[in-house]
Amino acid sequence: MKKMNTNPVVRQLKTRLRELAYLASARALLHWDQETYMPKKGVGKRAETIAYLTGLLHEKFLAKDFEELLLRSKAELEEGRLGEMDAAIVRETFREFEIEQKLPLGFVKELARVTSGAQSAWVEAREKSDFSAFRPHLERVVALKQKEANYLGYPNSPYDALLDLYEPGATTAEISVILQDVKKFLVPFIEKIVSSGVSVDPKMITGRFPRRKQERFIRFVLERLGFDFDAGRMDVSAHPFSIGFHPYDTRITTRFDERNLISALFGAIHEAGHALYEQGLPMENFGTPLGESVSLGIHESQSRMWENMVGRCISFWTYFYPRLQKEFPKPFAGIPLQNFYSIVNAVRPSFIRVEADEVTYNLHIILRFEIEKEIIEGTIEVKDLPEVWNAKFKDYFGLTVSKDSDGVLQDVHWSQGSIGYFPTYTLGNLYAAQFYAAARRNILSLDKEISLGEFGLLREWLRKNIHIHGKLYRAKDLVKEATGEPLTAKYFTDYLMKKYEAIYGLK
Ligand code: ZN
Repeated sequence: MKKMNTNPVVRQLKTRLRELAYLASARALLHWDQETYMPKKGVGKRAETIAYLTGLLHEKFLAKDFEELLLRSKAELEEGRLGEMDAAIVRETFREFEIEQKLPLGFVKELARVTSGAQSAWVEAREKSDFSAFRPHLERVVALKQKEANYLGYPNSPYDALLDLYEPGATTAEISVILQDVKKFLVPFIEKIVSSGVSVDPKMITGRFPRRKQERFIRFVLERLGFDFDAGRMDVSAHPFSIGFHPYDTRITTRFDERNLISALFGAIHEAGHALYEQGLPMENFGTPLGESVSLGIHESQSRMWENMVGRCISFWTYFYPRLQKEFPKPFAGIPLQNFYSIVNAVRPSFIRVEADEVTYNLHIILRFEIEKEIIEGTIEVKDLPEVWNAKFKDYFGLTVSKDSDGVLQDVHWSQGSIGYFPTYTLGNLYAAQFYAAARRNILSLDKEISLGEFGLLREWLRKNIHIHGKLYRAKDLVKEATGEPLTAKYFTDYLMKKYEAIYGLK
């Protein structure tokens, strides 16, 4: 049962949290501007401005009177005087406060300095495919992340502490089991696809796709999906992203390539999936944890569901394909719907994660998870990384990595100190499949709706079962609440099996 009337101490806390949120959203807007419209020469001063605001936020969050208010709120919680919603606000705020408090300022500054150096070293090392140039930087990053885990504390593995920063409440042991299940399914499944003899060639889609026309088509799709352009925008940036200041101002970016319509299109649907989550958060809880997304994994579940489960299903294109054909008769007039559907779902093992299809993608993630876990636990050394990577890659994908830029050097994450982040991508896929299966059980006409370009029922289901709660539940509990059972890999592997057995004529 939800108790709506706010406890007086928590009411004060909420006022203070909203003040922090105003500052944070101003800072976020500066970030958005930097990635989209800011003139090149403004970068230096902008970085100073953002750093100042970050310092101010930190100061306000750790101020003595804020701490006292938070401790009083926590006492209310422990004495059982809080309703479910107030309790979640206090629990989540205290969690964040503890993290900030456990990390000494000197350490935070050193990590920022070292990762900033590591990132520029990584860019250069990747260009030259030279791991040895990156190695000393990565060694420093890893040492600091191990130190960070020690500051934060952990039950079993130091990796627990880092994972918890991105997916609160998830443990290394639990997700290892689930990811192993996914791996056991994927390795033989991909082999079956590769040896099916069916070859689907994405290169069939060639042509020139003028930017203006691409944008028009994408806007049409996003409007149908329910992205509210009166409460959001779409702009262009080098790396697509989404950012929500609050539910009434949530923005996405995309990038256009006049030779490749498909990447802008699915990229935009992905970001719109993130944005629909942000637009679905309850405005009345702005600034408090109840107005925020649950975790990276849950956020990713929304983008991947819209991009892959909805955006790459046949019903979706039954509705949108005639319009696509009309907008771009060359080449689509000559490609039947069924072929187009196969092409956008082509599976092929490849070296680069960000270019991977939805099946092989997760194997890329599992490989990274296994490696970064051992690095943090100290059972693999940084110097051995290329060798370990390439051996695993051969084992899982059957491919031989010939240069580190196609292997261990391809991702920016480790140079940024984002260790523990990768699993959230695959968790996102698993959550997505489990949510989607539950939505289907509730909306029996879902496929029919989608084939008519109607997404309202799905959106409402997601809003009611996921978005509206903010951080009321941790990811683990949210999955149980929304689907009736704990997270399992079963829904995802079933989904892949059903879809790809048909496309590749397996069985
Ligand atoms: Zn995403």
